[in-house]
Amino acid sequence: MSAAFPPLRDELRGIEPYGAPQLDPALVPVQLNVNENPYGPSPETAADIAHAVGEAATTLNRYPDREFVELRSALAAYLNGSGGSGITPEMVWAANGSNEVMLQLLQAFGGPGRVALSFAPTYSMYPEYARDALTEWHAGRRAEDFSLDLDAARELVLDKRPVVVLLPSPNNPTGTALPPEAVTMLCEAAASYEPGGLVVVDEAYGEFRRAGTPSALELLPQHRNLVVTRTMSKAFALAGARVGYLAADPAVCDAIRVVRLPYHLSAVTQATALAALRHAPELLGRVDDLRVERDATVEWLRREGFEVADSDANFVLFGRFAERHAVWRGLVDRGVLIRETGPDGWLRVSIGTAEEMTAFKDALLETV
Ligand code: PMP
Repeated sequence: MSAAFPPLRDELRGIEPYGAPQLDPALVPVQLNVNENPYGPSPETAADIAHAVGEAATTLNRYPDREFVELRSALAAYLNGSGGSGITPEMVWAANGSNEVMLQLLQAFGGPGRVALSFAPTYSMYPEYARDALTEWHAGRRAEDFSLDLDAARELVLDKRPVVVLLPSPNNPTGTALPPEAVTMLCEAAASYEPGGLVVVDEAYGEFRRAGTPSALELLPQHRNLVVTRTMSKAFALAGARVGYLAADPAVCDAIRVVRLPYHLSAVTQATALAALRHAPELLGRVDDLRVERDATVEWLRREGFEVADSDANFVLFGRFAERHAVWRGLVDRGVLIRETGPDGWLRVSIGTAEEMTAFKDALLETV
């Protein structure tokens, strides 16, 4: 008998695959753990998407448009109406979720001897992109209130000289948004050394920002090294379709083109995203309701004596619990699934419908 198969690469051994629990909704009906939008497409929008997919199905014998020209134009138009200006299709790139967009960025710009950097607590997938792109990973720390200490952040960037700085705004899991001066300062710092660094502002939750918090899209014309990523998974209520995208200097898109797999965006995905963008006002129509529900949830949790992080997103981080797993378990037993993530002692709840939030609050009071 020959050896069966080789072991995993050293750095992959013992690592658990990504896996937010996907529990059966028949058993745990209130699912508030992966920051989805609780309001799906209307029957009319769903029918239009189905029609577009049906048309695409008649030519599925052919590879899709590798350059997804129509989708890039539609995304550029959407971004120009959503905080951006002067964004052209050449400045837009899309992939299967913004997870894939950011992995492609690391594949293009990372590599052995290069550093990617973020500030913890932050999105748990970042170190995984770095690992998969064979890039050294470094995480600085956020302040106690989860904001960025700007001087310390600049010093760390100047010291580590990362090729990519990953900054979610609003941050997951804390909900903290970055002020524009932080983005400007980090872009300037990352442009000041050789070979320079890209500053990626991950606005997966950008549409949920509170009034007065500007999008980093507004800063794109001023910084060649700024990249803004977005997704259709959250505010757009299209997590199942897997569409994420970025806006940046066209040279960033050209670099990603070198590493992307051929025809990475299927014809079905492109048709779905295009149809959804035609229905953007309706799909985004519940964002305001979710913001109101978020602010009410923050207030309620504070009134009940919990510690709560300010949130510009569609989720809230709250604590602190001596044994958060016991609280999480108590909620699951009462039919409510939230997320055990972030610093020890904290839990994260996604904002659902008013009924779902009532179920969450009732279950929480019964549990603690
Ligand atoms: N960035 C952040 C901060 C996220 O929380 C998520 C999803 N949880 C993503 C990116 C990726 O989302 P998607 O791949 O669905 O676009």
